[in-house]
Amino acid sequence: MFEAPESPLCVLTIHAHPDDEASKGAPTLAKYHDLGVRTVLVCCTGGEEGDLQNPALRNEGGPFHGMTPEEEKQQLARIRPVELARSAQIIGFDQVIMLGYRDSGMAESPPNANPDCFHQASLDEAVGRLVSIIRRERPQVIITYGDDQRGYPHPDHLKVHDISVPAFERAGDDMWYPWAGEPWQPLKMYYSVWSRTRLIAVHEAMLAKLGKSPYDDKWLNRPGQDERITTRIDVASHMYARSGSLRAHATQVDPNESWWFGLDDDELATSYPYEDWVLAKSAVGAPDADVVEIDLFTGIKDVIACEPGQSLPNRLTSPALVGTEVGEPA
Ligand SMILES: [Zn+2]
Repeated sequence: MFEAPESPLCVLTIHAHPDDEASKGAPTLAKYHDLGVRTVLVCCTGGEEGDLQNPALRNEGGPFHGMTPEEEKQQLARIRPVELARSAQIIGFDQVIMLGYRDSGMAESPPNANPDCFHQASLDEAVGRLVSIIRRERPQVIITYGDDQRGYPHPDHLKVHDISVPAFERAGDDMWYPWAGEPWQPLKMYYSVWSRTRLIAVHEAMLAKLGKSPYDDKWLNRPGQDERITTRIDVASHMYARSGSLRAHATQVDPNESWWFGLDDDELATSYPYEDWVLAKSAVGAPDADVVEIDLFTGIKDVIACEPGQSLPNRLTSPALVGTEVGEPA
């Protein structure tokens, strides 16, 4: 028998490496934190294979001055958790949980073969780790990476998607992972999406401001997935979360890189004030094809407000509804 959840609203977002939470969705999560929604970050790897992307840190007096490549790697391993903690604080995550795998490095590179890396992890085992977190944190909304990552097929990013889909389904099923806590069925799952509309808007704003843009033809001609976008969150007043968290990852993000910082927060908010999402699974319905959702919790608040025993929540346990695919080609 389903009981109306007494848990507060919660959104849980799954990322591959420290700094992904800064470059994808930071303003959206900051906004929901400000609205009083509990925000949880699951970071699957420690980012051990990242390189120093900010050459100024090698200058005299910098934390990487005079280091060999091997020393740099060790220094990165020490610094990246600190950067992640700072970034999460700026965005406003209430909880940061490491899934505990090692960074797999780029596709076909030797770290892919490390038995501790995320890429090598058994799917069922990794899904189980995520399920136990979902059951403990009880999010209604899960955010993860999409099923089409051809634009950046990093093995760890692909695996984030691969574990998230079964975790969404198994978290509410007591036949799976009975050791992992009381079942909890999240109600909606969103994919992050590379928005072509946003890229064009930012490109044009950079041309107008700087006379040049870091987006070359390779980017401008890259096929988009904008037709899949179901949900558009207005984040104009939360752009600080993006710029602030990116800067917190000082080893990974060059503060002089126009790719990241060619527009300031206000200019970004003026040129494209949204973050775009794809509703991939829903147990509480989906927007009509001609309607753009403006809230990740649309449909969920009604369920939460439902009295115990009312019929609406019973829909949630229907596997047919939980498995509803939205926005994907038939
Ligand atoms: Zn990453």
